[in-house]
Amino acid sequence: MRLRNVTGSREMIAANEFVIQNPGEWKGKWKDIFQNKNPIRLEIGMGKGRFLITLARQNPSVNYLGIEKYSTVLLRALQKMEEEPLPNIRFIRMDAEEITEVFAQGEIDRIYLNFSDPWPKDRHAKRRLPSRQFLERYDQILKSDGTLEFKTDNKDLFTFAEEEVADTKWAIRSISYDLHADASMMEGNVMTEYEEKFSAMGNPIYKYVIYRR
Ligand code: SAM
Repeated sequence: MRLRNVTGSREMIAANEFVIQNPGEWKGKWKDIFQNKNPIRLEIGMGKGRFLITLARQNPSVNYLGIEKYSTVLLRALQKMEEEPLPNIRFIRMDAEEITEVFAQGEIDRIYLNFSDPWPKDRHAKRRLPSRQFLERYDQILKSDGTLEFKTDNKDLFTFAEEEVADTKWAIRSISYDLHADASMMEGNVMTEYEEKFSAMGNPIYKYVIYRR
C-alpha cells in the first residue's frame, strides 16, 4: 500500500520495514539489523532525511540510522524510501534523550547533528543537542576514536556549542564559520533540507567536527 494512501502517521510508521520498533531491544546488537559488520553512523534530528539518504546512497559500505522525534516528519523520509529503497538505512522515532538506552558503548561510529533546534531560553539549554548533557550521552555510545559533526546557521547556538565543548573531554578537530566558503571542509559536504534553505537566503553555515581527547 502506498504511504500517501494511508492516514495516521504513527500507524504507518509502526508498519514500516525501514523503521525499527522497540529500539531498546537492539542495544548492543545493531549490526544484526544490517546483517553485516559495517560501521553505523547516526543522525540525530534527521527531519525529512535528505542528508542521511544521500549519504546512504553514496556509501553502500556504511550503515546509517536516523533518529527523529516526530512521526509526521519521519514519514517524509519513508516516502522517499518507497521511491528508492536502500539496504543500509533505517529510522527510529524517538527522543534523543533516550539514546543511551538504545545504543551500547562504542556501537556508533559517527554522529551527525544538523540544524538542531535552538531552544533559545536559558532554562532549556540542556535540551539543545550540542549541550554538555548530550555530549555526555554521545560519549557513552560513540566509539573511542569516533567523531561528531555539527552544522547550523544559528550563530548563538553555535557559540553555545563551542563553549560547551571547552568544558568537556571533547575537543575541536576542525571548525568553520562559513562552511560554504571553506574548500577543505566543503569536500564531500552533503546539504540538508535546512542547509539548502538557509544558505540560499545568504546565511553563513557554521560547522565543527569534535572528538574526545
Ligand atoms: N536535520 C534536518 C535538516 O538539517 O534539514 C532537520 C532540522 S530541524 C530544524 C530539527 C529536527 O530535529 C526536527 O525534525 C525535530 O523534530 C528533530 N529533533 C529535535 N530535537 C530532537 C530530539 N530530542 N530527538 C529527536 N529528534 C529531535
